Amino acid sequence: MRARELQAHDRYQRHQETWGDGPPYFSEGTFDFWQNIAQGRFTLGHCAACDSRYFPPRVICPSCWSADAVDLVDTPGVGTVVSYTELHTVSTALRPIAPVVMVCVDLAEKVRILTWLLGDDDRGSIAVGSPCRIGVEEVLGANRFVARLL
Ligand SMILES: [Zn+2]
Repeated sequence: MRARELQAHDRYQRHQETWGDGPPYFSEGTFDFWQNIAQGRFTLGHCAACDSRYFPPRVICPSCWSADAVDLVDTPGVGTVVSYTELHTVSTALRPIAPVVMVCVDLAEKVRILTWLLGDDDRGSIAVGSPCRIGVEEVLGANRFVARLL
């Protein structure tokens, strides 16, 4: 195998050791992100060339197209709710936690993220503009990035 194929094979084996056969699926640009999630760290893409942060992670900066200055950086995950909805019809895997509240969050780093809102008591008090925090918690047997109201 060539070097690039060996790297891909190594990443696939490490991913299976961490996550098993199930999702999340990964690519060259998201492998390190999912490894960080497994370790309880929520990270954003960061470009050293133009100092922008972005999500989801990728191998090319969406702002300046640099391909050799991208890495992942930790974030406090603090932001505000810009939109939300409650899903009553969900996939089989999510039925144990239905209904699921999906929130669109603008982080302080000017990054917009769509994820789940946890906290049954929070569902009645959520509003556009509510302060929240995105972090990593175990949900349905695996670490996932989720939001909670502050
Ligand atoms: Zn950039």
